Amino acid sequence: MTAFVFEPPVTPSVAVRGQAARYPVSRIFCVGRNYAAHAREMGFDPDREPPFYFNKTPQHLVASGATIAYPLGTQNYHYEMELVIAIGQPAFRVSVEDAPNAVWGYACGLDMTRRDLQIKSREMGRPWDFGKDFEESAVMAELVPVSEIGHLSTGRISLSVNGVVKQKADLQDLIWSVPEVVDLQPGDLIYTGTPEGVGPVKPGDHITGEIDGLGSISLTIGSEQ
Ligand code: MN
Repeated sequence: MTAFVFEPPVTPSVAVRGQAARYPVSRIFCVGRNYAAHAREMGFDPDREPPFYFNKTPQHLVASGATIAYPLGTQNYHYEMELVIAIGQPAFRVSVEDAPNAVWGYACGLDMTRRDLQIKSREMGRPWDFGKDFEESAVMAELVPVSEIGHLSTGRISLSVNGVVKQKADLQDLIWSVPEVVDLQPGDLIYTGTPEGVGPVKPGDHITGEIDGLGSISLTIGSEQ
């Protein structure tokens, strides 16, 4: 057995609908600008240039229903409602036809974003990490196995803040579909990108999101860190 100088951190994991066993998370990839209307609201022309990714640290996962602190360093903290894909078997350079076999399940996710820091990094040509990868920035609801729900290609995706609808789109609006973004390993999550309507939240706000067939996700923004 390997000896460690201190107890290693617990493996990050997410709950699975209808099962006691949890899905162990290895890596988190997030697709940028994957809905045309959202790309436009961020000031870009949507097209079919290859999808690009950024990462979130698995230790930054938070379960749906949590209350999290309003993070440090931002005046413009945004929600992004997303479909999350969980990979169940190796899928390196798989064809679009074979890619669905690698998907283990789907879930509702929130890609919480310090928008002001993201945009500042972008303008300076620096990585997005300060804006995207910080504590409690990857929120996820329970994972729904493909064995239960099948594969998702259409269906409503929506988000509300304090009961007011802010984002409403359909999964068929994804520029790069589920099979087209799958190229990974078991334990990998893919946040597939957010539709239009992103915006800020403040301490005390309550976020709820839904995707057809997957149920809902919720998050409460607590006081400042
Ligand atoms: Mn996103």
